[in-house]
Amino acid sequence: MNVNDYFKYKKRVVVKIGSSSLQHPQTGSMNLMKIEKLVRELCDLRNQGMDVCLVSSGAIAVGRQAVGLQNRPEDISTKQACAAVGQARLMMTYQRMFAEYNQTAGQILMTKDTMLEEESCQNAQNTFEEMFRLERLISQGVIPVVNENDTVSTYEMHFGDNDTLSAIVASLTGADLLILLSDIDGLYTDDPRKNPEATLVECVEKMDAHYDAMAKQSTGSDVGTGGMATKLSAARIATASGTDMVIANGKDVGIIHQIISGTFRGTLFRAQNDETFDIHAYLQNR
Ligand code: GLU
Repeated sequence: MNVNDYFKYKKRVVVKIGSSSLQHPQTGSMNLMKIEKLVRELCDLRNQGMDVCLVSSGAIAVGRQAVGLQNRPEDISTKQACAAVGQARLMMTYQRMFAEYNQTAGQILMTKDTMLEEESCQNAQNTFEEMFRLERLISQGVIPVVNENDTVSTYEMHFGDNDTLSAIVASLTGADLLILLSDIDGLYTDDPRKNPEATLVECVEKMDAHYDAMAKQSTGSDVGTGGMATKLSAARIATASGTDMVIANGKDVGIIHQIISGTFRGTLFRAQNDETFDIHAYLQNR
């Protein structure tokens, strides 16, 4: 895909990375080289003058590894205990790595409640704004690192996946670009693992039902939670909120600067700016 300078002038960018992209598949341990590179890429966007926000999964996966569980836990309290351990460990790693580039990582944990209650939603929005202001004001910037507050969120109050969460964050902060780093190159016309004829959709001008039919395949990962269907629902929230969204493969996080420089492999969903879209109503009915 070649969009020339289209992304170069973006001011506020949200990047989402999934659990499976942060781990070594063979061992389940954190892929430190990759996390390091991700942090470097984000700091470089900062250096280009953009407001940057990272939505990172991995709390449960990192915690499960830390406490020595072989498989992804099924019951909610084990998941929550893993998240408690893993989130702290994940943030420690991010803080250390961002510090290498003179940046400070700040943690924001959200639940669906945060969005549905007017006061907490306003508070979250203010916190993001203030962090971005600090990012711009001082050389030692503050980069928000967001995750779902897995340790307290119950089923009803769960976003469930960080694809949706990152689109909500993009909407809440008025971001103009959301990048979803996935374990697949983007949206395909069919499941590329089963159908060799499947081709990558490079640009979706407007979401409609025929794209939903294409999204029937899932990631097949046992680490994270989002499949293509959740990515399309994220695209609905993001584009309706006026945010362009890109799905690209997070295998090499260097794809971030390829996206910004306009030549990359992935799917672009173009912003629609739907005045009638109400994020609260959308979440209430979900
Ligand atoms: N919030 C979950 C975690 O950090 C991940 C959700 C997801 O994979 O989308 O483990």
